[in-house]
Amino acid sequence: MKINGKTRICGLIGNPVEHTLSPMIHNTLAQALGHDMVYVPLLVEAGRLKEAVAGAYALNLLGLNVTVPYKSQVIESLQEVDELARNIGAVNTLVRTEGGYKGYNTDMEGLYRAMTGEGIRIEGEQIILLGAGGAARAVAYLCAVKGAAKVYLLNRTLDKAQAVAREVNHAAGREVIVPMLLAAYANLPAGQYLAIQGTSVGLSPHVEDVVIADETFYEKIHTGFDLIYSPWETRFMQLVKANGGRAYNGLKMLLYQGIIAYELWNQVTVPEADVQVVYEKLKAHFTRTD
Ligand code: NAP
Repeated sequence: MKINGKTRICGLIGNPVEHTLSPMIHNTLAQALGHDMVYVPLLVEAGRLKEAVAGAYALNLLGLNVTVPYKSQVIESLQEVDELARNIGAVNTLVRTEGGYKGYNTDMEGLYRAMTGEGIRIEGEQIILLGAGGAARAVAYLCAVKGAAKVYLLNRTLDKAQAVAREVNHAAGREVIVPMLLAAYANLPAGQYLAIQGTSVGLSPHVEDVVIADETFYEKIHTGFDLIYSPWETRFMQLVKANGGRAYNGLKMLLYQGIIAYELWNQVTVPEADVQVVYEKLKAHFTRTD
């Protein structure tokens, strides 16, 4: 990659940012597609987010990704916010427009593309969603928007599940999210479910941990999607597979949130062959270091 006088800059703002894989995604794409763009991590210290966004705009940065802990807080520094991102209450991508940045949430569009790419349907499905943190809250919203029949939202802390359900049901205009205590999983109605694992349980290095260890729970699951991608195969995924289900990790969600951000910044559609090149690179990173 050659930097010259016309090279455009994109980057990731957050704290911490050292472990990000986004430079691998975007710099690989820029090289493959011949775009004169470079992507760098940009650490933003606590209390300096507003200055950082204004400074990035003043420095003519083409776009930014936003990660923990700034995904909600960044909204107040934006010129405009896309409707999905506004409803979710979290922005992970800023796109340069006249007068300021416009915010998007490509995490959820990324999850949706990852799922549809694997042939996983949300529309009309009975879904179990484990967790009610930042990621699960957005997944609950996505499921409601994409026409899930019912989403049983199981969380260790019931009030958090109830708060998410209230908010999403209100936005969706129907009682689609049913909050439950995690420990009450045996009360789930009989049936076959798509289960989305949105807690942080099982994340490396705690690879033996799983949010529900009881094997009988997994008899109800035809497909399991874990948002975690490190380890490559979580204990949750192993239990789904051991009980005859299909299981996927969250790497394609990570991949597609990046692809969609790249498409927004560069006004292109990334060809599937290039998506595959980036995926193989990311996969090699995880399967090598596991
Ligand atoms: P978060 O806001 O901190 O939420 C954590 C969730 O995990 C909460 O629901 C919490 O329950 C639950 N939890 C934590 N420890 C638990 C335990 N011991 N037993 C039961 N439940 C427990 O985190 P987040 O930002 O939503 O992220 C969640 C996961 O999604 C992380 O592993 C993250 O890596 C992954 N993620 C992946 C992608 C991707 O691109 N693939 C994107 C975003 C996030 P309480 O409410 O009871 O505390």
